[in-house]
Amino acid sequence: MNATKAYAAASASSPLQPTTIRRREPTDRDVELDILFCGICHSDLHAVRDEWKSLIPTVYPIVPGHEIVGRVRRVGGAVTKYRVGELAAVGCLVGSDRTCPMCRADHENLCAAQVWTFNGPDEHLGGVTYGGYSQRVVVDEHFVLKVPESLDPAGAAPLLCAGITSWSPLRRHGVAPGKRVGIVGLGGLGHMGVKFARALGAHTVAFTTSPTKAEDALRLGADEVVISRDRAAMQARAGTLDFVLDTVSAAHDVGAYLDLLAPEGNLTLVGAPEQPISVPAFSLLMGCRNLSGSAIGGLAETQEMLDFCGEHGITADVEVIAIQQVNEAYERLLRSDVKYRFCIDMASLEQE
Ligand code: NAP
Ligand code: ZN
Repeated sequence: MNATKAYAAASASSPLQPTTIRRREPTDRDVELDILFCGICHSDLHAVRDEWKSLIPTVYPIVPGHEIVGRVRRVGGAVTKYRVGELAAVGCLVGSDRTCPMCRADHENLCAAQVWTFNGPDEHLGGVTYGGYSQRVVVDEHFVLKVPESLDPAGAAPLLCAGITSWSPLRRHGVAPGKRVGIVGLGGLGHMGVKFARALGAHTVAFTTSPTKAEDALRLGADEVVISRDRAAMQARAGTLDFVLDTVSAAHDVGAYLDLLAPEGNLTLVGAPEQPISVPAFSLLMGCRNLSGSAIGGLAETQEMLDFCGEHGITADVEVIAIQQVNEAYERLLRSDVKYRFCIDMASLEQE
């Protein structure tokens, strides 16, 4: 048995606790990673607490984590892209059907048979997949990414979800010099959105509910920062933005951000609050505005984003923690008290 230490939650109200899980023996096409770091995404928290139960019920025990950076430990005989000892990564997906039109167009994230890194059907061992709050992971090489060796591995881990989830819609909506872009919510996704919008050359406006993050927003690359509870400041920006990326993890007034869009502008939701959102019709009608969603990105696009980060020296701002601090980190995440991504140093799992 390929036994691996991990942290798991036994129910929606249980803390994450040490456990031992099983990984498959690598097949010909598999890469096995020794996990160095795993970021903590708000999606981990939503899933652990079964907040998406109406759509994607959580199967317990759950081992979360889909921002994984590690060193290649073993490779199967048919693996061509990875060598033992290399830095490599795994994000939100570990499988898809590889044959549907979406997969053939490199949009594995839109495949109806996509397999999530945790809480997805495990076709090898049965049950569900287990994520990156663990020592090792075994994944088909198609779903493994190359990490530029120049990047700090802890800061690179959040690129695998927070990075690609903000990168993909910015690219799809043509964010470039001359565009005016708003990023709503300065958490894991939002702070990467600010860094990317700036690196892509757009005029970038950060919207935050946390006045304590205002100075950081400018340091991260925003040209302007708006405290979103300040009505006058919000009204002053009405109709000025070409694109808004909304990363907020809880119920909030999406209409207030639609009103910031110029005619025919687009607001893309990537935040996934538990409750349905409501939108005032007139915020959409006036100005023929567009409201979209976006889910992570495909594998090729994720590699493109990692390579861009390598070229531009972009990583997430991380607070590195030991796995023993994970439950406290979840509570801080709920209070928007993270600057700007928790990242677990998996060496701490050795002590368990
Ligand atoms: P996070 O680090 O907790 O950041 C969320 C930010 O939203 C907070 O830092 C806070 O920013 C703001 N916020 C929180 N509660 C708020 C409220 N009640 N009203 C207004 N603003 C509030 O979370 P994350 O990891 O970036 O994830 C954000 C969301 O995206 C989550 O729902 C997550 O599940 C989802 N997600 C979606 C995808 C996808 O593929 N679509 C991928 C990953 C994550 P300020 O302090 O600046 O206001
Ligand atoms: Zn995520």
